[in-house]
Amino acid sequence: MNSYLQNYINGNWVDSIGGTKHQVISPSTEAACTEITLGTQADVDAAVAAARAAFDSFAQTTREQRIELLQTIVAEYQKRAGDIAQAISTEMGCPISVSQTAQVGSGIGHFMSTIEALKNFEFEEKVGANKVVHEAIGVVALITPWNWPMNQIVAKVAPAIAAGCTMILKPSEECPGAAAIFAEVMHAAGVPAGVFNLVQGDGPTVGSALAKHPDVDMISITGSTRAGIAVAKDAADTVKRVHQELGGKSPNIILPGAPLDQALPAGLGGVCLNSGQSCIAPARVLVHKSQYAEAVKIAADYMNAMTVGDPLTEGAHLGPVVNKSQWDKIQGLIQAGIAEGAEVAAGGAGLPENVSKGFYVKPTLFSNVTNDMTVAREEIFGPVITMIQYDDVDDAVRIANDTNYGLSSVICGDPVLANQIAPRIRAGMVYINAGTPDASVPFGGYKQSGNGREFSKWGIAEFMEIKSYIGMVM
Ligand code: NAD
Repeated sequence: MNSYLQNYINGNWVDSIGGTKHQVISPSTEAACTEITLGTQADVDAAVAAARAAFDSFAQTTREQRIELLQTIVAEYQKRAGDIAQAISTEMGCPISVSQTAQVGSGIGHFMSTIEALKNFEFEEKVGANKVVHEAIGVVALITPWNWPMNQIVAKVAPAIAAGCTMILKPSEECPGAAAIFAEVMHAAGVPAGVFNLVQGDGPTVGSALAKHPDVDMISITGSTRAGIAVAKDAADTVKRVHQELGGKSPNIILPGAPLDQALPAGLGGVCLNSGQSCIAPARVLVHKSQYAEAVKIAADYMNAMTVGDPLTEGAHLGPVVNKSQWDKIQGLIQAGIAEGAEVAAGGAGLPENVSKGFYVKPTLFSNVTNDMTVAREEIFGPVITMIQYDDVDDAVRIANDTNYGLSSVICGDPVLANQIAPRIRAGMVYINAGTPDASVPFGGYKQSGNGREFSKWGIAEFMEIKSYIGMVM
């Protein structure tokens, strides 16, 4: 078992002050794979004090110094890529082929896009005779989930460094080993003491303590809408900035007449990647009524051809979902779909036939779904797709927007029509035909999918305050 029992505070690995041991259960073997110490208020106080003490000098570093620091971190991160991939696959079950490429690579992508954005970031602008400057907001707390661990950690840490902030990272207690290795990377890169601190722990204790802390200037959380609301409430009394990247239930509009054999696979694959555990997974597939029966057949064949297997073995199979409670939740939602009248066109409840243990879910397609059913409304976070038919394009737009979420959307088919309806979609991202996630454009959601944007110059701006110099400006 991997053991990461200490926190990283003020440039040192230190014991928790009163924390309790916690074991992560591997979702493929159901055996303990990693142990950490769940941190305490006292650990948070120590980490915040270290970040506060480091802030004044780190905020004064130049653009060039921060670029050099980020480049050194990338070099150290690349040396540990194999260890990070192994930890991710072991702890949360992502297939190793995906961990080594997309999971680890997303971290490098965010470092590189932040470095490019920092090179040209406008820290000052003239407005008439006045000057407006962008300054680091201060001490920031970063709370991250387990599903794309390095993606979300680096999408916060890199811009926070670029802005000149000092920080405390609280990673998910479901994937803590990968985050501990990341802290080792920061140490090896010579990040000054106190600039980056890691406190392991759960949300209600460490996450809440960070959100309430009077000496934290901003909190950035990626996680469920439930956790995002809790953080905003905890942060309210100290009026700190709250940045939220939360849940989704994204539509995939297949436009009338689209060639289904070309239009469907990318979106279905986008859901199945990482076993459906992606916030932008386009899990509501909307198909015109004239093509619905054919689309169900193609999608069912696609899902039936998907296999599950050991995440530490190379291959194109799906891994398990993260833990038992997530497996139980998904099973409950599949049962709810059946009870509410949706038809199982592929997969269904229970373990896939080829496995006898592990939290594996059958790649599942529901047809005859209406948008008011539970499976169309709730974020399932598993390899479960709902296929809904629409009458015309206006109906498709209406169904697409009929959700509490607004993170992402996909439109496939005629590019002219796709560009016409894209402005009507109430979501932060619209992927048109071959569009795939890109670290150089902003990422974030409308409605209950969050507030604020990450990636590139937009991500850096989130970690900054704006100050006006008015009058005798030099
Ligand atoms: P989660 O909400 O259970 O946990 C996310 C993080 O928040 C963890 O570090 C957790 O410890 C912490 N947390 C939980 N309760 C808290 C509280 N009361 N106070 C402070 N912190 C708290 O989510 P998860 O299961 O780890 O991740 C899956 C969710 O994350 C999904 O809803 C998914 O859509 C969302 N997500 C969103 C994005 C995005 O960019 N919008 C990206 C990835 C995942």
